[in-house]
Amino acid sequence: MLSKTVFERIIDREITAEIVHEDEWCVAFRDIHPQAPVHVLVVPRRPFASLDALTEYDEGLAGHLLLVAQRIAREEGLSEGYRIVVNTGQHGGQTVDHLHIHVLGGRPMRWPPG
Ligand code: 5GP
Repeated sequence: MLSKTVFERIIDREITAEIVHEDEWCVAFRDIHPQAPVHVLVVPRRPFASLDALTEYDEGLAGHLLLVAQRIAREEGLSEGYRIVVNTGQHGGQTVDHLHIHVLGGRPMRWPPG
């Protein structure tokens, strides 16, 4: 059996994280190494390895994750705007193989990303 990712361990409460939202489909918690004043990760309970693992059957879940990200941005007071990031695969800079949406805000973001 494949070992659990750190995000599965957070979802299963085996390691702690500051959880800001949870529902039937996903859990959201603060990033341990925040890259902005607000840095929250929205993570589906199902351990999809990345965005690339989703199929047409996951359309509802994908939409839900984005709307949860929007809700968190509002709750965190990011009225000036925010950045949503889904690092995918090696070239995408993904380091944890469990799909997650970064919600970053509280400072102006630059473009293009590195
Ligand atoms: P990625 O690089 O895969 O897009 O993002 C993974 C994120 O997970 C990183 O921003 C990293 O700081 C965060 N992270 C890694 N391990 C932990 C952990 O144990 N707890 C929390 N809260 N975040 C983590």
